[in-house]
Amino acid sequence: KLYNQVQDLKGNIRVYCRVRPFLPGQSNIMSTVGRVEDGNITINTPLKYGKEGRKSFSFNKVFGPSASQEEVFSDTQPLIRSVLDGYNVCIFAYGQTGSGKTYTMSGPKVLNEQSRGVNYRALSDLFYLSEQRKDAFHYEIAVQMIEIYNEQVRDLLATDGINKRLEIRNSSQKGLNVPDASLIPVTSTSEVIELMNIGQRNRAVGSTALNDRSSRSHSCLTIHVQGRDITSGTILRGCMHLVDLAGSERVDKSEAKGERLKEAQHINKSLSALGDVIAALAQKNAHVPYRNSKLTQLLQDSLGGQAKTLMFVHISPEADAIGETLSTLKFAERVA
Ligand code: ADP
Ligand code: MG
Repeated sequence: KLYNQVQDLKGNIRVYCRVRPFLPGQSNIMSTVGRVEDGNITINTPLKYGKEGRKSFSFNKVFGPSASQEEVFSDTQPLIRSVLDGYNVCIFAYGQTGSGKTYTMSGPKVLNEQSRGVNYRALSDLFYLSEQRKDAFHYEIAVQMIEIYNEQVRDLLATDGINKRLEIRNSSQKGLNVPDASLIPVTSTSEVIELMNIGQRNRAVGSTALNDRSSRSHSCLTIHVQGRDITSGTILRGCMHLVDLAGSERVDKSEAKGERLKEAQHINKSLSALGDVIAALAQKNAHVPYRNSKLTQLLQDSLGGQAKTLMFVHISPEADAIGETLSTLKFAERVA
C-alpha cells in the first residue's frame, strides 16, 4: 500500500536495475551481487566500504543476471500505449561501459527473436497497436537518430556525411527538437532495423577498437508518432526517446589527458545534469535545471510534466567493478 502511494507521488519516473551476467569464460569469478528480490538488491562490499560487508538498494524492480530481454521489456509496454495516446516517453540505459546498456536497448551483436532489445520491441509494439487502432486513428510514425558527443549534436541517419553540427530548438512546431536531423518515415520494424544499423555504423565512424567512441557518446533514437482521430480530425502527437547513454565510469584525472579528459568532463557534466533533472522532478522541485547540458535540453519536453520516464541502470557483477557499481546504484537511488 505504501508502495502504491510512493508510486503515485513519483508517478511518472520509474527506475529499474539490471545485473549483467558473467560473460563466457568468467564463470569462476565471485559476484558482488548478493540477494535480488523484487525491488531490492544487496551488494557485497569489501572492508573499505564499511564493516557491514553489504549495502542494500531499492528500486521499482531489479532484474537479476538471468532475466530475459522479454522480461526486461514487459513493464515498458504500457508506455508504448501512452505514446500512441499523445504522451512523451524517455527510456534511458545508464551504467559503466560493459555493464549491458547496449544489450538492453539494442541487443547483442548477433540478434534473434529472443535477444532483441527494448528499441526493437518498442517499435514492434507501436506498429502492432497502431494497426489495432486503425479504424479510429490514422498514425504516422517517423524516426530520428542522433548522437551527443562532447556536447555536440550529430545526425546519425544523415546520408551526406555526419559531421554537420545540429542545433536543439525547444518548442518547435511538430515537436521536433532537432529539426535539421533526418526524419525518416517508417511503416515496419524491418525498415527500422535497417535504420538502426545505419545509425550504429555512423556512430562507429572515427573510432577504433581502442578508441570506442560509442561508449563516450549518448545515442538517442527518437520515434515520433502523429495520430489523427478519423472522426474528429484531432491530431495527437507523442514521441519516445530511447537513449543509450555514454559510460558512467569516472576517469582517473591523473591518467586522462587531452581529448580523453575533455570527453570525460563532458560525459560527467551531462550525466550529472540528467541526474539533477530527474531528481528535481522526482522531488517535485519548482525549478528543474534543464539548461545545464545538451542531453537535458534535448529531452526537456519529454522529462517532467505529463511525460513518462524509465531508467534502466546497469551493473557489472565483477569484484573489480565494485566502485562503479556502488556509484551507479547511488546515482539511481537519487533519481528513484
Ligand atoms: P555497454 O553498452 O554498457 O558498454 P554492452 O551492452 O556492450 O555494454 O555489454 C557488454 C558485453 O556483455 C557484450 O558482449 C554483451 O553482449 C554482454 N551482455 C550484456 N548484458 C548481457 C545480458 N543481460 N546477457 C548476456 N550478455 C550480456
Ligand atoms: Mg554500449
